[in-house]
Amino acid sequence: MTMTKHDEARTIEEALDRIRRDQPSLKPIADAFQVLLVSRAVLKAGMPDCQGRQLPSPDAKKLSEGVPVLTGDELAGLMDPWGERAASTIAPLARAFPGLEAEIRRLKESLDKGESDLGHCMRALMKDDDAELGPMASRLVVPLPVLRFLLGQILKPFVEKKTQPLHAAVRRLPWHRGYCPVCGAFPEITYLQGEGGQRWLRCSLCGHEWQFNRMLCPRCETQGQKKNLIYVEGRRDEFAELCASCGRYIVGLDLREHIGESITAASAIGLVHLDIMAQERGYSPVASCAWNMVESSHGGPEGKKLERQ
Ligand SMILES: [Zn+2]
Ligand SMILES: [Zn+2]
Repeated sequence: MTMTKHDEARTIEEALDRIRRDQPSLKPIADAFQVLLVSRAVLKAGMPDCQGRQLPSPDAKKLSEGVPVLTGDELAGLMDPWGERAASTIAPLARAFPGLEAEIRRLKESLDKGESDLGHCMRALMKDDDAELGPMASRLVVPLPVLRFLLGQILKPFVEKKTQPLHAAVRRLPWHRGYCPVCGAFPEITYLQGEGGQRWLRCSLCGHEWQFNRMLCPRCETQGQKKNLIYVEGRRDEFAELCASCGRYIVGLDLREHIGESITAASAIGLVHLDIMAQERGYSPVASCAWNMVESSHGGPEGKKLERQ
């Protein structure tokens, strides 16, 4: 199903309105992320669709071996050069993370002046190449994890939009892994839907959704005897799944009784209280995302990487 510009932005606004109404304590985080998620939806809607030749075709054999369609270099290549569109990803970040305003300003100035090359940064980010990013972080006086986080946030809408043509094609091929078959990133949320409660995962980078074995941990793919679920009483359809084998958790929604409801980019924002509960128990998220990397306030990320398999 293809969404139009206003569809996605409106769906996100409605999801955040519901969160504010049902869970008033999450209002500050819903407000902060509204700016980021809605502006991202609008930006994506204004981007041209990716031309087929810019993307490799899904290869059934590689997928059967657990190799995602796109390499890190190919993902980095989906980023536009620094220009109006790329720059427009930055202002909403400063509004969503006021604690990082100075760092965001220094990064923007450096890109504006051409002192840093965005394409180069993205390739280093996707390769996890700290030898490349480290000196840049020092020059900008931005902690390395913060620089990685900001670059990941700038890249995300481009990857979400430009991998779209791959999503349906990839879904037709078998894939049994806990990371994304399109981009290799780990999932941000899991949900149960349909008859028998099929389990789905939603990618933290490109937004692709794929079916996954209900018993396995998406991070370490261990069978779930060591899996614990935590809930808040009275909200049993929302949970966090903790894996004692790898010490990771993922938040989730049970949509089996919510016919017609679907997952959006805002869904995980309504589960931040479960992130806090899981992290208080010493667990780390399966995927580092903007909302689960923040400390209790919007201070900023703490030493996390944008992780790909
Ligand atoms: Zn993905
Ligand atoms: Zn695990």
